[in-house]
Amino acid sequence: MVTSAEAAEPHSGLAPQARPDAAARRAVVAARLHDVVQRGELSLLYQPQVDLRSGATYGVEALLRWHSPELGSVSPTEFIEVAEQTGQIVPIGDWVLRTACAQAAAWRRAGLGHLRVSVNVSPVQFAQGDLAQQVQSALLGADAEPGMLGVEITESMLVADVAKAARALHALRAIGVQISLDDFGTGYSNLSVLCTLPIDVIKIDRSYVHDVTAAPAQVSITRAVITMAHSLQMKVLAEGVETEGQMALLVANRCDAMQGFYASPPVRAAEIEARWREPSRLPAKYFSSVPRQRTLLLVDDEESIIAALRRLLRRGGYQIVTANSGAEGLQRLAESEVDVIVSDQRMPGMAGVDFLRRAKQLYPDTIRIVLSGYTELQSITEAINEGAIYKFLTKPWEDDLLRANIEEAFRQKEMADENRRLNREVRTANQELAAVNLRLQETLDAEHERLSLSERRSTSALEVLRCIPVPLIGVDEDGMIAFVNHDAEALLVDCGPLLGRDADQALPESLLPMLRLPNGETADLALGALLCRCSSRTVDAGSGSHCRLIIMVPRGECVSPA
Ligand code: C2E
Ligand code: MG
Ligand code: MG
Repeated sequence: MVTSAEAAEPHSGLAPQARPDAAARRAVVAARLHDVVQRGELSLLYQPQVDLRSGATYGVEALLRWHSPELGSVSPTEFIEVAEQTGQIVPIGDWVLRTACAQAAAWRRAGLGHLRVSVNVSPVQFAQGDLAQQVQSALLGADAEPGMLGVEITESMLVADVAKAARALHALRAIGVQISLDDFGTGYSNLSVLCTLPIDVIKIDRSYVHDVTAAPAQVSITRAVITMAHSLQMKVLAEGVETEGQMALLVANRCDAMQGFYASPPVRAAEIEARWREPSRLPAKYFSSVPRQRTLLLVDDEESIIAALRRLLRRGGYQIVTANSGAEGLQRLAESEVDVIVSDQRMPGMAGVDFLRRAKQLYPDTIRIVLSGYTELQSITEAINEGAIYKFLTKPWEDDLLRANIEEAFRQKEMADENRRLNREVRTANQELAAVNLRLQETLDAEHERLSLSERRSTSALEVLRCIPVPLIGVDEDGMIAFVNHDAEALLVDCGPLLGRDADQALPESLLPMLRLPNGETADLALGALLCRCSSRTVDAGSGSHCRLIIMVPRGECVSPA
């Protein structure tokens, strides 16, 4: 799988924060953009668009790249804005269209089928009013068919002048190119307008792409957008899919297609061609419900029976594979993915039920039917009881009945396949949830450990303070006694328990001036017969509150006046 780091491309240019002057930078970019098409500095990369039912790439988005000899690689998000401001986007956009059409035609010639290439169209090109003509001319010039091209427009193009936008889109639709609404959800789209426009695909912005760890409300929004688009007969493509979890959630919510680093970053045309010829790199388990052609295996040693069955079932739309013996039947099963098997019972070499028993062991998901003129009750009953046979049908058969039985067998198979797929999905989602829960638990445990450590530290610090051999009293902002150490308790033993009491009421009168003494000042005072040097400190108690610490250092007995 491709990671987002792998996908990162070098867009050097100057980083925005390093630019001394954004206006000067824009002027440089605008100047360098002049005649950029003629100088051959532009190129296109292509990012695969993947069908979420089959996992196959059905199209690509063409993404413009500019490599300037002076500025290096400049990001499209930077230079396209400048090109739009200066009008240079018109020749650039035309070049993009022509190059994309030529590439689509080249891919068709190279045998890549109808790989659709979608191009981004700027509001400036759109506003010019002759986009359909431009598209037509590009298709003709490249000898490409309209079905190979798509255009991506943005919501802003629909807001300015809806009637004009509708005319332009209908003209494009008349040609036959696919129309996608890009970055859906980032701009202002009036839904009542949207449903009147000929839009084929809604590309939901990556901010709507979540995985199983997302809040349910976020997932509900994505699901609502998909449902809304489907009810307007539009397809939905999710942009910026970076993880398997995101893709799994989109598959579960019936999103039609995706694009993003998880499937592939934007790559060169040659790379698209190479990937087209390789099997999909995406995990197959998500796409097993893909409607593929139903496959029926007919096994009978009599050629005439096989021929008659073929004729009878020809119109059923099945792919039919045949074998003249059980051994050959096993060979066919290894070659193709068979859904339903219809086998004769009496065949030389291997009896039908024995063949179906082997088939059950090797391919348990197949639906197995015996079609026989001989009713060897014992062996047939045994095979049915073991589950090796789904149905026993007799020769000569009634055409309609046999057709109905085979059709029913395919339905059974597809229902079972769908159940297996859903089971796998639920299992994957559960595993991911369990992993998330585990991570959460680890975080909580670490936090708990941190808190208990800091609690142990504060308890020790408090104990140290309590044992300091100098009387200390702490008074909080509300005038409440918050701390008394052992020496203070001994010194003020006559006052009773002090902790939690109002300092003004609990402390001896002689000590009260200390509560109002400016920070850091010292005063001598008598506490009973003892002379103390007291000082007061304002201490930061955290969270912006302060507390006052009174320190009393005994200096000796008071000397009574002679
Ligand atoms: P966009 O049309 O929405 O194209 C998708 C952007 O997302 C591309 O950026 C693509 O490289 C990036 N991307 C793809 N997958 C992922 C992913 O999984 N995660 C993240 N974070 N990003 C992903 P890029 O190529 O830099 O293009 C930016 C924008 O520039 C495009 O957004 C489009 O609006 C504009 N642009 C690109 N080429 C053209 C063009 O030929 N003509 C016009 N008018 N605009 C273009
Ligand atoms: Mg786009
Ligand atoms: Mg986009």
